[in-house]
Amino acid sequence: MTVQGVTPVVNTFFGAPIEPSSATFVFTGVPYDNTSTYRRGSKQGPAAIRAASQHIESYCLQENVNIDASKLPIADIGDITFDSESVESMLKAVESVVAQITQEDKVPILIGGEHTLTLAAVRSLPRDIVLMQFDAHMDLRDRFQDKEFSHACVQRRIIEYLGPDHLIQIGVRAVTQEEYEYAKNQNITFYTSDDIRKAGAATIAQQINDAIPPGPPVYIAIDMDVLDPAYAPAVGNPEAGGLTIPELLTILRVITPRAAIFDVTEVAPQYDQGITAITAARIITTFLCIQANRRSLVPTNG
Ligand code: MN
Ligand code: MN
Repeated sequence: MTVQGVTPVVNTFFGAPIEPSSATFVFTGVPYDNTSTYRRGSKQGPAAIRAASQHIESYCLQENVNIDASKLPIADIGDITFDSESVESMLKAVESVVAQITQEDKVPILIGGEHTLTLAAVRSLPRDIVLMQFDAHMDLRDRFQDKEFSHACVQRRIIEYLGPDHLIQIGVRAVTQEEYEYAKNQNITFYTSDDIRKAGAATIAQQINDAIPPGPPVYIAIDMDVLDPAYAPAVGNPEAGGLTIPELLTILRVITPRAAIFDVTEVAPQYDQGITAITAARIITTFLCIQANRRSLVPTNG
């Protein structure tokens, strides 16, 4: 299998091979941050998270899985190629690459880059998909700085495409009044970071799981600003009062078995000493381990 429209990188995720033919999980980077408005730099995210992944323990204690590239069928095909000045070029390129991966029944793992890439990935998938968005923000603006396609509008474009009952937002705490009223009017399911703190992550995880109808594939999208800036300071738009890492992982452990695609976005690595990229690599590792168990791809005991 050859994926068109990517440029290989030397330092791959977890040292994975670049050839995807025998892989179940296929990594690709989207180094794009051209519509970012506050703190740019997420185009450096894929390289920083790849570098951090080299230093993560490959054995997952909780799941009893080894994600060593020689033991688990993973590949990293490199970064998606596009015109970095053009959001349309990026969206078209991401849509094409994700379609090539899912056509082969493989699980794409996309690493941003800014959150706008999620729209492109959604467009390449069946319309019954349910998107679980972990984010401090709703990203439901109709326009932002005269732009129709931007990280601040991405979920608005997605629900116009999928319908509002295909979106669940988790960790919300920073919205405009317009976004909040729109979400209420459209009956979008969302859980604020306060909801999670009050009810407990395990309870909310069960509610989310029960809210997803059986059958359709689930897309898990992690905007890293869902975490409190204490744990993930190097993001484009940090927002106080966020989730802790155990809260996020508790919810992920419940819903990840149903996922068909995963992304991690908004790491802008120059704003810290590496902790946000390391945390992103840990979150991706947890996703891989849970999915490997679910798919019975489990090489155990190191
Ligand atoms: Mn976002
Ligand atoms: Mn956000």
